Amino acid sequence: MIKASADALVLGAGPGALAIAAALSSENLKVEVLANSDPHEPWPYTYGIWGEEVDDLGLAHLLEHRWKNTVSFFGEGADNPSSKSNIPTPHNRDYGLFDKNKLQHHWLSQCELAKVQWHKGLAQKLDINETESRVTTEEGKTITARLVVDATGYDPVFLKSSESGPVAVQTCYGIVAKFNKPPIAENQFILMDYRCDHLSEKEKSEPPTFLYAMDMGEGSFFLEETSLGLAPPVSIETLRTRLELRLANKDIRITKLEHEELGLFLPMNLPIPDLKQPVLGFGGAAGMVHPASGYMVGGMLRRAPGLAKAIAKKIRDSEASPAQIAQCGWAELWPEDLIRKQALYKFGLEKLMRFSEPQLREFFKGFFDLPSSQWYGFLTNTLTIKELVSAMWKMFVKAPWSVRIGLMGMQGREIKLLWEFMKPKIKN
Ligand SMILES: Cc1cc2nc3c(=O)[nH]c(=O)nc-3n(C[C@H](O)[C@H](O)[C@H](O)COP(=O)(O)OP(=O)(O)OC[C@H]3O[C@@H](n4cnc5c(N)ncnc54)[C@H](O)[C@@H]3O)c2cc1C
Repeated sequence: MIKASADALVLGAGPGALAIAAALSSENLKVEVLANSDPHEPWPYTYGIWGEEVDDLGLAHLLEHRWKNTVSFFGEGADNPSSKSNIPTPHNRDYGLFDKNKLQHHWLSQCELAKVQWHKGLAQKLDINETESRVTTEEGKTITARLVVDATGYDPVFLKSSESGPVAVQTCYGIVAKFNKPPIAENQFILMDYRCDHLSEKEKSEPPTFLYAMDMGEGSFFLEETSLGLAPPVSIETLRTRLELRLANKDIRITKLEHEELGLFLPMNLPIPDLKQPVLGFGGAAGMVHPASGYMVGGMLRRAPGLAKAIAKKIRDSEASPAQIAQCGWAELWPEDLIRKQALYKFGLEKLMRFSEPQLREFFKGFFDLPSSQWYGFLTNTLTIKELVSAMWKMFVKAPWSVRIGLMGMQGREIKLLWEFMKPKIKN
């Protein structure tokens, strides 16, 4: 019955595509990759991750920076530096930045060892029959495989979703620079600085933004003004102005601009794809982004090997059709528990999107007051459903009334998401 030239054809050359191509090839499958860019081309972004995640994966050597002094600020901020509202919340957990070349090479070397075949081109058309999947590129080349894995990012070329609705987008404006004086403490990493004393009353009533910042060493600092996730998103111009105001408020000036990120957009609440389709997805294409953090690399590193194992087992059945192999992959990638957790995370995000700045500061104060294993498990999506519900319930009970009221009101998609949590539509 088998006719296709490869076991699996992976589309894309981002972290998602390389993670799954490396894992599939480690299962001794014949893997090919089709991307419109060279898989060795450096990625545009640098990825952050909690230290414990890379330690558990045995991949700490892939980090370029690692911070022990990790904090957030949830006070209002005041001119007096010793004011209580300037006291940081310590996270007492390491945070790291990947060396993006090392991370890329980590996956590429596994692919190269297993002789993965690379194709350059833009996937445009997909035909699937009982025995093979056939992808045709814009340039007219065709490649066949038993299974196609679409890892072409947040706007996938072939994957379909049965849901629609406004997408909450995290926007960021970032710079790497040297300054007339240090904008944050030496060797410090700031996950969220919600201090707002640099804003006028009018600005404080607009959608809140926070500073994500790190000391990069040798006098350079990375500062990124960020909006958590909103539909419609906060504009890059607003973020840039807010960063300028934040710095001016402390008399901080840029002396050397080393890098400017002119606007990054990260969708936070993308739907889970239709799990009945005969093509599989991975990474951003498959809705794997964590709706609470926007992160995905840790999840991809943890999950690619298990998914590849399940696919490899099915592919070894020579009678299995592309649709059956994809079904097996979807069942492994989106089991019921994960679908339910995703609905809860999205439910939480809907609440946060409506919160005012004071509510957000109170909310996060309470969140990071949870036992460390609870907030860490929440942010890395490593809690069981029971643990996740317990963490959320604890947050609710401990929250001040200003936050509790915001958590109780049901608006927009929230009822639908709660229903999805209670009665998930298992689509596979
Ligand atoms: C600004 C930003 C910062 C982020 N920071 C973090 C972070 O700190 N930590 C973290 O864990 N996550 C982070 N993420 C989330 C996530 O890890 C990244 O978005 C990641 O790049 C997603 O990987 P991906 O491979 O799914 O998609 P992408 O990286 O978007 O890769 C898609 C690939 O598909 C190729 N492609 C597209 N269309 C076609 C086609 N038709 N045919 C062939 N190839 C095609 C593209 O050329 C590209 O190679 C961040 C995301 C953004 C946007």
